[in-house]
Amino acid sequence: MHPLAKLDHRHIWHPFTQMRDWLKREPILIVEGKGALLRDARGREYLDANSSIWTNLHGHNHPRINAAIRRQLGRIAHSSALGLANEPASLLAERLVAAANPPGLARAPGPATASGNPQPPLQKVFFSDDGTTAMEVALKLAYEFARRAGRSRQPRFLSLQGAYHGDTVGAVSLGHIDLFHKAYAGLLFKTDQVMAPYCYRCPFNRARPERADARDYRKCNWECLDKLERKFEAQKKRGNPYAAFVFEPLMQGAAGMIPQPVGWLGRAAEIARAHGALLIADEVMTGFARTARPSPAGAHAIRPQSLFACHHEGVQPDFMSLAKGLSGGYLPMAATLTTRAVFDAFLGEYDEFKTFFHGHSFTANQLGAAAGLASLEILQSTASIAARVRLAQDLRDELQTLWECPHVGDIRQVGLVAGIELVRDWRTREPFDLRERAGIRVCEAMAKRGVLTRPIGNVIALLPPYCTTRAQARRMVTALREAVSCVFSGG
Ligand SMILES: *Cc1c(COP(=O)(O)O)cnc(C)c1O
Repeated sequence: MHPLAKLDHRHIWHPFTQMRDWLKREPILIVEGKGALLRDARGREYLDANSSIWTNLHGHNHPRINAAIRRQLGRIAHSSALGLANEPASLLAERLVAAANPPGLARAPGPATASGNPQPPLQKVFFSDDGTTAMEVALKLAYEFARRAGRSRQPRFLSLQGAYHGDTVGAVSLGHIDLFHKAYAGLLFKTDQVMAPYCYRCPFNRARPERADARDYRKCNWECLDKLERKFEAQKKRGNPYAAFVFEPLMQGAAGMIPQPVGWLGRAAEIARAHGALLIADEVMTGFARTARPSPAGAHAIRPQSLFACHHEGVQPDFMSLAKGLSGGYLPMAATLTTRAVFDAFLGEYDEFKTFFHGHSFTANQLGAAAGLASLEILQSTASIAARVRLAQDLRDELQTLWECPHVGDIRQVGLVAGIELVRDWRTREPFDLRERAGIRVCEAMAKRGVLTRPIGNVIALLPPYCTTRAQARRMVTALREAVSCVFSGG
């Protein structure tokens, strides 16, 4: 075993990992990366098919991001945001606010607020360190805002079935993944869940399985939206209307790459707004151009100028949580964007103690902010936009070849993210028992073929870095196809 791998085995406890399995074999130990490629300590090369757990945008070792970090490093790496401002964080906040309020959105036919006013812009940025804390901040701000606005003394939150919003006790409370959350039930506060659209496994979808994305052939009457509406109604009758509706826009990631059919998000936001609820959009996975919506024409075209998933359906939330891709996947950095109204509710005389009592040591870190600025610049360049449009199409074309596998039940792509759901038989949609570790075994077989990703249960996630070439996209999908055939047919 490589000496560094030995040290890992001796001391490191890995996240979301059964360490008994981990300790059975030598880990892949990454030492370098370039573009979509990773290289391990033994000199083997791999394609980073999940962008290092959904964080990387433009590829590894990007010359412009490297240069931006080096430039910043030559000045200062970190000074505290508690009591001090700094250069790259100020600039990044300005750029984030500009990107989060694209021209035309205010006039878009999105859901109006309860008062009939247009959706207010996102003007304030609270920096933190990861997606979990970005959601924790949104949660605390919404809770306190709802109380101060006199809406509720005990604000209650509604989120989607299967939701994942992070791992701290607050963020876990917003989530609904039993496997992750059951152990900590005693620590959590109560939130409600509502049916999320999951066309492939929806009990209201009367369509028989086809060799296509289930959203495209579903037969239903939007029962999921009826359920949402009824949930809001019922809570209102209890005299404590929901303070906020929490959702991942366009696609739920850790829930299993579960995409929403076109129109769901806009309509859901309208229902929530009509009941006076705040909208908390978790764009930790979906943001920074990772997702895009099919164009109104029905073709799965990408609308690359929108960096955030909400905006594809004209929705401007009251809170938008950003992390993973914020620094281009380079450094831990997160942000919670919110409105002037929320910000103003925390203003007062010092001794009124209306201050938002929350903050982290590395908040608004200069290196992360410098990386974030460079990443945003690349994202907004015409070259990157063109590359993303191309890659989304390449990925779409390549994924079609998977329909020949009888163990592929659903292929769901939303821009530059795809979930491939493995089933025992596509004709029945019968799932594999989690104990069979179908997804894990397929990913292990992909790794042997030089392609790295992690499964979510029986769903294989593909989120290529935006610099991925057509040939690389083909290698990712080919490895998946061969792995599926190898694992299930002994082929
Ligand atoms: C990854 C993720 C989080 C948590 O982010 P961390 O940076 O891992 O804490 C929260 N919400 C969503 C939707 C995510 O994908």
